[in-house]
Amino acid sequence: MGIKKEGIKLINEDGLRIDGRKPDELRPIKIEAGVLKRADGSAYIEWGKNKILVGVYGPRELHPRHLQDPTKAKVQCRYDMASFSVIDRKRPGPDRRSIEISKIIGEALENVIFTHQFPRTSIDIYIEVLEANAGTRCAGLTAASVALADAGIPMKDLIAAVSVGKVDGEIVLDLVKEEDNYGEADVPIGYVPRTGEVVLLQMDGDLSYEEFEKALNMGIEACKKIYEMQKDALKRKYVKVATEIVEEVE
Ligand code: ADP
Repeated sequence: MGIKKEGIKLINEDGLRIDGRKPDELRPIKIEAGVLKRADGSAYIEWGKNKILVGVYGPRELHPRHLQDPTKAKVQCRYDMASFSVIDRKRPGPDRRSIEISKIIGEALENVIFTHQFPRTSIDIYIEVLEANAGTRCAGLTAASVALADAGIPMKDLIAAVSVGKVDGEIVLDLVKEEDNYGEADVPIGYVPRTGEVVLLQMDGDLSYEEFEKALNMGIEACKKIYEMQKDALKRKYVKVATEIVEEVE
């Protein structure tokens, strides 16, 4: 964000972006639920050039016991990028950025999980970024919601998330890496369609109030589309499970 970009044009004369998308167009998204046998819930998402796997465990009794909350479950999220997920080898292990992203995703999810139903427990969410090309916190949060639903954890709704930003003076949806690096603003949004709540909102860069309003509306409209893809992934998983049960009975 904000790196000087003399001579780099991110939007062409036809108003199209470097990967040919229109300003309000999402990258292709594929979501699959229930991809891991041993996790309680899981999801895999391919979002443009991002590839992310999420595993969920719990609710499980939290140890050591002094960390337990007698009133609700603790939502513990770990976002991690594989060393091979970016062009230069990423140093393994947590860093400032991954600690921040783990925190904001965990806090967003706490808004939708019925944590009071599971006192003294932990709900663990592991987000593993296998390939990254900007927007991984939004893709990770979107997939984590599906993985939690796949684990059967009661929630008031799924969270759909997407990043909106400003590139060459224009508000655009779902930034790729070059737009993130050389653009003027990046605003990740996490939205709960059933309640209309925004549970994740960050801003890197500058936007006027009018630009922010436009960006937020564009993001929310896109989240509604992503929400349909999340539900579709869950439906496909349960159709598959039901088919397997029927086959076993036969
Ligand atoms: P997000 O992935 O949510 O957009 P950032 O804006 O912090 O989060 O990062 C944008 C992109 O920059 C990432 O998706 C990834 O492609 C790249 N990136 C992040 N951290 C590193 C790193 N340590 N080394 C190389 N590239 C990185």
